[in-house]
Amino acid sequence: MAERTKYILDEADLPTQWYNVIPDLPEPPPPPLHPGTREPVGPADLAPLFPQALIEQEVTTERYVDIPEEVLEVYRLWRPSPLFRARRLEKALGTPARIYYKYEGVSPVGSHKPNTAVPQAFYNAQEGVTRLTSETGAGQWGSALAFACAQFGLECEVWQVRASYDQKPYRKLMMETFGATVHPSPSELTESGRAILKQHPDSTGSLGIAISEAVEQAAQDPDTRYALGSVLNHVLLHQTIIGEEALRQFQLAGDTPDLLVGCTGGGSNFGGLAFPFLREKLAGRMDPVIRAVEPAACPSLTRGRYAYDFGDTAGLTPLLKMHTLGHDFIPDPIHAGGLRYHGMSPLISHIYELGLIEAIAIGQQECFSAGVRFARSEGIIPAPEPTHALAACIQEALRCKETGEEKVILTALCGHAHLDLPAYGAYLAGDMVDDELSDAVLAQSLATLP
Ligand SMILES: *Cc1c(COP(=O)(O)O)cnc(C)c1O
Repeated sequence: MAERTKYILDEADLPTQWYNVIPDLPEPPPPPLHPGTREPVGPADLAPLFPQALIEQEVTTERYVDIPEEVLEVYRLWRPSPLFRARRLEKALGTPARIYYKYEGVSPVGSHKPNTAVPQAFYNAQEGVTRLTSETGAGQWGSALAFACAQFGLECEVWQVRASYDQKPYRKLMMETFGATVHPSPSELTESGRAILKQHPDSTGSLGIAISEAVEQAAQDPDTRYALGSVLNHVLLHQTIIGEEALRQFQLAGDTPDLLVGCTGGGSNFGGLAFPFLREKLAGRMDPVIRAVEPAACPSLTRGRYAYDFGDTAGLTPLLKMHTLGHDFIPDPIHAGGLRYHGMSPLISHIYELGLIEAIAIGQQECFSAGVRFARSEGIIPAPEPTHALAACIQEALRCKETGEEKVILTALCGHAHLDLPAYGAYLAGDMVDDELSDAVLAQSLATLP
């Protein structure tokens, strides 16, 4: 095998289709339900929120969806993204395992989020929509959408969770530089926001509240639609560009993964990497174990209930069958902002129920320790979210050191931490804590399930 570190595809080898895993599953996932009638939602129910093209992608049974040329043109600003062999990390760990990471931090905003922001903005613009609303936590999704809207001449309005808005001014400045308007959430601009502020004037917000505000605004204006950065089928579909590229890069490397690990907030970077490999697994062409890693403080897969729940706090969204901690759940203020969502993608939840993937939860101190180790050997400071995946990689690589197994591990390094360095500051200063999520708090939150 060639002693290479970096596997790069030519622009000409950029995949031109996204992969839809649903037709390859033994059964399809349960449909979203209308919160009033409890009947499956139809396209008409979703039309105030999403353009037709995305509603169709949400329910399509086609295995492949062509990527529009206009989207490929924007993708080429940073895609194909590199696949690295982590030789220096392997050496530092003294492991016989071979560790590969697919690096999405090369995108304009430093994460995988533009892979779906760009097509979402494109389809909206094509259908005459002039403004998109959305929510953002730490700011990765908001900045991806702001960038994407700038590509297609759309206005962009983002509700950012108050805690991040106050603590992390750089993401807001990035969104504004790309032309977006940013409001702290909860805000006085929406009914959902005012209701929360009336009860909790000092609320620091949550993703669930910010989603309510953005959805409410979109539903009220015929020229405005809403965009979601994770969780939904069409988002995971767009992210499969990651796994499709990685498959081709593994061919270049002449290797086959035995284990895939990815961090899961709403499930999009994990699904994006894993689904094309799951296709290969279901077809019997390879047999990797596929493992999701979530924060111990927000463990929707490993401790949540598989039930119908709202995607937001105010209960404005359709009911989604998913692993959930309850739509009122407000996780501890852990540093991986992108993993602080109460639910998990219905598609990932379904695949987990089918037993096709595994899940584990890891506390944030172990994750940041892995992030520092990775940074010092590979030279990339990982975003707080993928440190969860790296911690799981390192656990496995150290097991291989004991057993001598030459396991091939692949992970999605879905972003860098250049705008999240205060989290590393807290870790390095010894100020980071692992708060256990108690059964009592969880039970209280689950009691609010509809
Ligand atoms: C948003 C985000 C996540 C969490 O979202 P998923 O849909 O689970 O991928 C993870 N990592 C980074 C860098 C993010 O920006």
